[in-house]
Amino acid sequence: MALTTSALMHSNSLFSLPSSHHSPSRTHLLTQSWFRTRIRTRTISLSIANAQVDVRKEDIVIVGAGIAGLATAVSLQRLGVRSLVFEQADSLRTGGTSLTLFKNGWRVLDAIGVGSELRTQFLEIQGMVIKSADGRELRSFKFKEEDESQEVRAVERRILLDTLANQLPPDAISFDSKLAKIEKSGGGETLLEFMDGTRISAKIVIGCDGIRSPVAKWMGFPEPKYVGHCAFRGLAFYPDGQPFEPRVNYIYGRGVRGGYVPVSSTKVYWFVCFNSPSPGPKITDSSVLKNQTGEIVRNWPSELLKIIDLTPDDTILRNPLVDRWLWPAIRPQASAGRVVLVAIRSQASAGRVVLVGDAWHPMTPNLGQGACCALEDAVVLAKKLAEAIKSGTTSVEDAFKSYGSERWPRIFPLTIRANLVGTILQSDNPVVCSVRDNVVVPKLVRLGPMLEHTNFEFEPL
Ligand SMILES: Cc1cc2nc3c(=O)[nH]c(=O)nc-3n(C[C@H](O)[C@H](O)[C@H](O)COP(=O)(O)OP(=O)(O)OC[C@H]3O[C@@H](n4cnc5c(N)ncnc54)[C@H](O)[C@@H]3O)c2cc1C
Repeated sequence: MALTTSALMHSNSLFSLPSSHHSPSRTHLLTQSWFRTRIRTRTISLSIANAQVDVRKEDIVIVGAGIAGLATAVSLQRLGVRSLVFEQADSLRTGGTSLTLFKNGWRVLDAIGVGSELRTQFLEIQGMVIKSADGRELRSFKFKEEDESQEVRAVERRILLDTLANQLPPDAISFDSKLAKIEKSGGGETLLEFMDGTRISAKIVIGCDGIRSPVAKWMGFPEPKYVGHCAFRGLAFYPDGQPFEPRVNYIYGRGVRGGYVPVSSTKVYWFVCFNSPSPGPKITDSSVLKNQTGEIVRNWPSELLKIIDLTPDDTILRNPLVDRWLWPAIRPQASAGRVVLVAIRSQASAGRVVLVGDAWHPMTPNLGQGACCALEDAVVLAKKLAEAIKSGTTSVEDAFKSYGSERWPRIFPLTIRANLVGTILQSDNPVVCSVRDNVVVPKLVRLGPMLEHTNFEFEPL
């Protein structure tokens, strides 16, 4: 695990900050009850560490250096709270394509100090156009005509992650650190065991480990469900400049949907979403993925095919789409030969372990809100956690509950809505497709209500 001794020493301060954030609050912070308790615990923990040399003590551990993990670490840092991020991969996920961020995402990126830097690298998208598979334009919209404050840009995931990581001290992320096991340990702490044998007892654990989150599994969440369609996506490269207007282009077919959007002056993001009764085998050969995508849209107007052709193989991905509906409900479960009713877990936290982003609420990408909501989660959680630590009047457990109660009414309906939108748009029923293409899209759809969910208010950091 790539974490240096200096990182450990650095991590000894829960309130370690870049210089601009130090005073005047630091002196005040050091007098707070959480910190006093911490110093006491540290003394005890040192003696435990001598006895159990293989268990390291940490204050706040974030599992996963994706958008949620990095945005949470940066938000906490801006509030004067130090955390350590543990990522299973050997570097930030440099592969991957792009994602579209709406104004709610940009507001968070501004709040954590990276909005301006990212804006200079990605085009602002002015509107969207919807076409049928035979090339007919069904409808077009301009974002600002509906909402002056709307901001839409497709960003490269790699650059977004790098930009967030660059806000953190170099030793804040530990790579090659795959969480293998998690269990309760004494004093309300949580014991984390990593694949390389490293063991950490953490006061606070923030699970940002994505859709297959081991932390969520340990907390009792069921696996996300496959929704019946898969997505191919890629990032086409035009060395001499891409020719497209800054618009999102959607193409609706029968049981297949595609689209593309310019990302920058040389890159264009595209996706193709198709129905499949099962997620199918994992394919890693990207030339196979490219051929499969081309096959699916071969009878469509040639523009999308040309974009796919100009895509470097290593940027093409195929994902089965999944989600998890966080019903606050009970379900029957077989236990010892009897059927009993058990509560389905929907709360974001258990004690001092909490989930952020896809780890808590995997949703389908039909509204382009998964990453935007992960960013929202990050700032809301960081604010509440930092306040609990600083004031000492609210416990960390209560801060996490408050985060869960505030975020649940936001993300639960979005998860369902994203799923329903996908189900309608992926229909292969000829009557449904005809009504969609001739009535609903040209005459009924209004952009304002469709993007209402991008309004998001939060307390400044
Ligand atoms: C096809 C598609 C298109 C999308 N388009 C958009 C879009 O346009 N707009 C939008 O807002 N959202 C979009 N999304 C959703 C968005 O990608 C996710 O919501 C977002 O990436 C969630 O971020 P995260 O940090 O929660 O999870 P992830 O990005 O999955 O990050 C999780 C991290 O945890 C690490 N990890 C996992 N397990 C472990 C472990 N055991 N130990 C240590 N580390 C671990 C992983 O390596 C990873 O780095 C799209 C999703 C898909 C599938």
